[in-house]
Amino acid sequence: QKAEWAKLKNEPTITTDGHAVELGANIGTPKDTVGVLENGGEAIGLYRTEFLYMGRDQFPTEEEQFEAYSSVLKAMEGKPTVVRTLDIGGDKELSYLQLPKELNPFLGLRAIRLCLEMEDMFRTQLRALLRASVHGNLKIMFPMIATLDEFRQAKSLVLDEKAKLQGEGVEVSDSIEIGIMVEIPSTAVMADTFAKEVDFFSIGTNDLIQYTMAADRMNERVSYLYQPFNPAILRLVKMVIDASHREGKWTGMCGEMAGDEIAIPILLGLGLDEFSMSASSILKARAQISKLSKADMESHIDHILAMDTSVEVATYVKEKM
Ligand code: PEP
Ligand code: MG
Repeated sequence: QKAEWAKLKNEPTITTDGHAVELGANIGTPKDTVGVLENGGEAIGLYRTEFLYMGRDQFPTEEEQFEAYSSVLKAMEGKPTVVRTLDIGGDKELSYLQLPKELNPFLGLRAIRLCLEMEDMFRTQLRALLRASVHGNLKIMFPMIATLDEFRQAKSLVLDEKAKLQGEGVEVSDSIEIGIMVEIPSTAVMADTFAKEVDFFSIGTNDLIQYTMAADRMNERVSYLYQPFNPAILRLVKMVIDASHREGKWTGMCGEMAGDEIAIPILLGLGLDEFSMSASSILKARAQISKLSKADMESHIDHILAMDTSVEVATYVKEKM
């Protein structure tokens, strides 16, 4: 099996009926790019930049960030590289940033909410990203977007910093896509509206499931509610993908679900464009997808979306897809 997978390392990911999808990796540090390329990753679908901010006693400087982002972009040699802006708060804390204790940290001031409030910190990250953009194929992604207004504010800061840098004579790429994570149900529901303004979506199922089912992703006592195959989740995923395609945009997925062998046939049938997973899952996923027909997977979708339960969906996929 390993030998079969190894042969696929430099191959594209194509279904039996000729439909191509992109298999990317989730990374946390620049060193991780080695594993991405060794495992035949076609892209980085999620670079979690918060690790750059964690395990230290002060904010990383613009220069330190520039070095990290540039080295990832260079290592990827022009392959799409989605860098997510700082997603801190919730379960991820910084020792040097004392924030007031919150009753519900997962519903609190985290990710883009915190970045829009701490604008100087956010602008520093954006400047580092924009300066690094000339070294590869950068896509900037904002986490935890709940409203269009948040996206517009964040995007306007990117454009503002870009204009400033160019005014200083610093070169910035003109082809940076700006997208969002879809991990809050309001954003999935409003995907048609967002799709007119964003360049891409990446569905963060780890949080989308948590927020849709109102079940803490870390709490074992409610883990029975953490259901990737609940038709509620699948219907939201479909809404997002369809909305993006109607506007000529693309949708990826960077939650754990994207690398799950039961989820993959469904996601293929739903038309997902990019799957981002841990690097070690890529070749296995490519082997699986290369044996599936997209048209065949599509033919099961209406039936699946009309099912009542998560268990019913998973059982059906194992038997029929
Ligand atoms: C997600 O929520 O699905 C995701 C990819 O982000 P994180 O796991 O970092 O919250
Ligand atoms: Mg998330």
